[in-house]
Amino acid sequence: MERCIYCNSIMFGENETKRDKSYNFFNTCPTCKSIYEGTKDKNDKVLKSRWWNSQKQQFESANNY
Ligand SMILES: [Zn+2]
Repeated sequence: MERCIYCNSIMFGENETKRDKSYNFFNTCPTCKSIYEGTKDKNDKVLKSRWWNSQKQQFESANNY
């Protein structure tokens, strides 16, 4: 479960498993419409991630993008 870094709401999440057992995750905030997306490996380690700031309309806090 992820919490929005902008407004602290609990986010809605979707996962898409890939062939190598890593997976893409995509979380949306129902309150401020920000997005947290990225890729994790099979042990839930974040390989890359980024936040979409809905107020600034830009990505920030990107890691390995
Ligand atoms: Zn939010």
